[in-house]
Amino acid sequence: MIYLATKTLDAMAAAIEVDQGALYRRYLGEAIHDVTDAYDDKPPGFRSHFGISTSGKPCSRALWYDWRWVELKRFGDRMLRLFNRGHLEEARFVAMIRAAGMTIYQADDQKKQYRVSLLGGHYGSALDGVVIGVPDLPDPQMPCLTEFKTHNEKSFNYLVAHGLFKAKHQHYVQMQQCMGYYKLDAGLYLAVCKNTDRLYGELIGYDQSTDEYYQDRSKRIIFTQSIPEKFSEYPDTFECKFCDHKMRCHYGQGEVARNCRTCHHGRPLPTGEWVCDQTGEVLDKSAQEAGCNHYVKHRDL
Ligand code: SF4
Ligand code: SF4
Repeated sequence: MIYLATKTLDAMAAAIEVDQGALYRRYLGEAIHDVTDAYDDKPPGFRSHFGISTSGKPCSRALWYDWRWVELKRFGDRMLRLFNRGHLEEARFVAMIRAAGMTIYQADDQKKQYRVSLLGGHYGSALDGVVIGVPDLPDPQMPCLTEFKTHNEKSFNYLVAHGLFKAKHQHYVQMQQCMGYYKLDAGLYLAVCKNTDRLYGELIGYDQSTDEYYQDRSKRIIFTQSIPEKFSEYPDTFECKFCDHKMRCHYGQGEVARNCRTCHHGRPLPTGEWVCDQTGEVLDKSAQEAGCNHYVKHRDL
């Protein structure tokens, strides 16, 4: 069963039309400053934690390659602008929500963005927000997780036709784990089509089995010292065809980045740190990136 957030989308549309977007633009001007990822000028590097947003990917091996910093992917300008667009759209969603009379909470009193942090910090995600006043809920005062996503036209049309669970299962999985962490029973998924600016809204309920299944799987991926099985033995399978790790995984080709996570001696601890089994040292992020002269490439890489 798919629960469309029709009243919520109608409220956002009405709020924009009534004053031709004046209030919406005022809120946009405020929200844009909070979307710090959109104007973060640090060069992107390896991510310290395993992101819950990726945990719904079907292939455990692909996730392990990312977690173990096997390769720092570089992107072309179009992709980088697309990622940036995704961040910028967050401010537009926030402005629409506020203009429609809902309240959104994204950070605590110290302006620290709400996060999920598990397994000592190895596993986590930032939250887009928690909304109060969602008109589609039986009790609009019920707090509701919200997640904002951008789609190209093909992906958006598929979402409209099939709903979140089927069309974007990875997003569904991400939301379930965030809802579980904050004990929220409802989630509002909002999507925009980048080609046409059409909006889609869907409400989901909490699904404990999905939350637990993916948390358990991610925990196994994080702590295993052996490479997980391939998702498929066939490189032409849909998953493999578009996988960043295809050449290494199926053909054993490509350079392995030299750092403590690709080293035989590097190991994550349950407390959230990484340790070197050769030297006994606990390694911070810069030490992990630097590695040392005792480096031995992991046997599975
Ligand atoms: S190529 Fe296929 S099996 Fe290998 S990591 Fe990628 S998705 Fe998994
Ligand atoms: S041996 Fe060196 S490269 Fe390997 S985990 Fe220890 S500190 Fe890192």
